[in-house]
Amino acid sequence: MPELPEVETVRRGLQPVMEGARIVRVEARRPDLRFPLPENFAARLAGRKILSLGRRAKYLTMHLEGGPALICHLGMSGSFRIETANASETPGDFHHQRTAAGAHDHVVFELEPAAGPAARIVFNDPRRFGFMLFAECAPDEHPMLASLGIEPTGNALDGPLLAGLLEGRKAPLKAALLDQTLIAGLGNIYVSEALWRAGLSPLRRAGTIAGPTKRARAHAEGLAGAIRAVIADAIAAGGSSLRDYRQADGSLGYFQHSFAVYDREGEPCPRPGCGGAIKRIVQSGRSTFYCPTCQY
Ligand code: ZN
Repeated sequence: MPELPEVETVRRGLQPVMEGARIVRVEARRPDLRFPLPENFAARLAGRKILSLGRRAKYLTMHLEGGPALICHLGMSGSFRIETANASETPGDFHHQRTAAGAHDHVVFELEPAAGPAARIVFNDPRRFGFMLFAECAPDEHPMLASLGIEPTGNALDGPLLAGLLEGRKAPLKAALLDQTLIAGLGNIYVSEALWRAGLSPLRRAGTIAGPTKRARAHAEGLAGAIRAVIADAIAAGGSSLRDYRQADGSLGYFQHSFAVYDREGEPCPRPGCGGAIKRIVQSGRSTFYCPTCQY
């Protein structure tokens, strides 16, 4: 499943082509993705200019001149492909494999960019958990986005704020960090990575890093920094994959992040001097990877 850094990489890949472009035509090749496409979907988009392409958590938000905003979610397997007369690329192709099979091309946007050649943006989604819907209000106020917590990017997420979010919570720390109403867009992979960087066990009660003690304050500060850092590093890695791609021959293929603990069960802990081994446990039905020796 694409996580926030991948969605941000997709946004950055699409932005130069989409922002300022006019939508000439939209072709919806089926009536539904995860949900039915909105009524008059293609007709409501045709002719409109795309003012900006934003992101909130894992949602892409397309702001349109004189019309509703379009909210897009990649679901489990969704991707966008940019096609011009002589090239095709798929921004944000990283941890999992994708198919470019035409059978799964569900929505095609034909664009007249502000500069450069005409382009087609193709939404491909083999498993069809992705969706597109209109927000008649500001996208942030749409019911799907309104209850989302703070973004894990940027300096707003600091120790005191994180401690405030977790104070009194008895849930395991990992579960609390996956709660989208607290921190939005943080997923299974980057929670495992952030907890390892901060040296905190995914099993400890979330509330234990909120409190007046010096130790709790240091834990909260360390974890907030670790969350921001793993997300920023992953976005940077995605960005470099985009740059490499543009210079390459058109086959981005399978981009593998380097993770410290995620998907590394049984491997030695990469923390210098630790000597422990990475363990996999299941929390709330999902795999957690951590080092029991240096995370407590
Ligand atoms: Zn370790």
